[in-house]
Amino acid sequence: MLVDNKIVFITGASRGIGQAAAVIFAKHGARLILHARKTKSLQQTIAKIQEVSAFSPFVVTYDVEEYDSLKNAFQLIRKEIGKLDVLINNAGIMEESMLGMIREDMVNRIMQTNLQSVLYHMQFASRLMMRQKQGSIINVSSIIGTNGSEGNAVYAASKAGVIGATKSAAKELAPFNVRVNAVAPGFIATDLTNHYKRGSLEKIVENNIKMKRIGQPEDVANVLLFLASDLSSYVTGQVIGVDGGMVI
Ligand code: NAP
Repeated sequence: MLVDNKIVFITGASRGIGQAAAVIFAKHGARLILHARKTKSLQQTIAKIQEVSAFSPFVVTYDVEEYDSLKNAFQLIRKEIGKLDVLINNAGIMEESMLGMIREDMVNRIMQTNLQSVLYHMQFASRLMMRQKQGSIINVSSIIGTNGSEGNAVYAASKAGVIGATKSAAKELAPFNVRVNAVAPGFIATDLTNHYKRGSLEKIVENNIKMKRIGQPEDVANVLLFLASDLSSYVTGQVIGVDGGMVI
């Protein structure tokens, strides 16, 4: 049990990487706080957790673009649970557009969802963790944030911003024994990537992924588990690629 009895808050836990993380963390003894926009969309995750854990997850629902709702959720967590050991900033969106077609509403949406919300979640979580003198924050960035990608300037900027925020927070919070790290997934099979057509998927695998397969959400979730657990107790300010050798 790598995270036995730890209170673990996962944003965007209704599907994809967040759901896989919730199930793996539950198997390893975590007490989960699950987040998505609607309770209904978390039903599948909750059912999967009930198969492997006796703990019922605590659920918070809000749009991460809404600052007041986000703040209220942390107030509720402080009141009802009183502590937080691990925060996984996973909720995110991807919208593609060549530079010439970028629109203001798209920039605002992606920046608020992928970057601003990460800053605010880190701020509220770190207040709890600094008092406890321990904690682990893990931000889900992307290979596109480290290396860029055509048609993804906005998404890349948001995910590169997450890396800068991770390293800054790691420096600030290390004296309080609060670690802050990021993962940079490559190409993972989730709803976020399911718009890629079969032919272009095969080309990506053949030309870009050294391990010759698309990643599964569990590949990322296992690295999140390592960063959340005491196995990584001397690791902070790092960005770990989970990309099957796309960037070496
Ligand atoms: P996904 O399957 O589309 O899941 C996205 C999750 O984020 C859902 O739980 C969704 O909740 C939540 N979410 C999105 N917008 C939200 C908002 N405005 N407010 C609250 N919740 C919101 O995506 P995924 O592939 O698992 O992605 C998870 C993270 O990994 C993202 O940050 C993504 O950028 C990153 N990533 C993914 C890949 C990949 O290849 N899949 C690669 C690199 C990085 P709802 O149920 O409320 O919609």
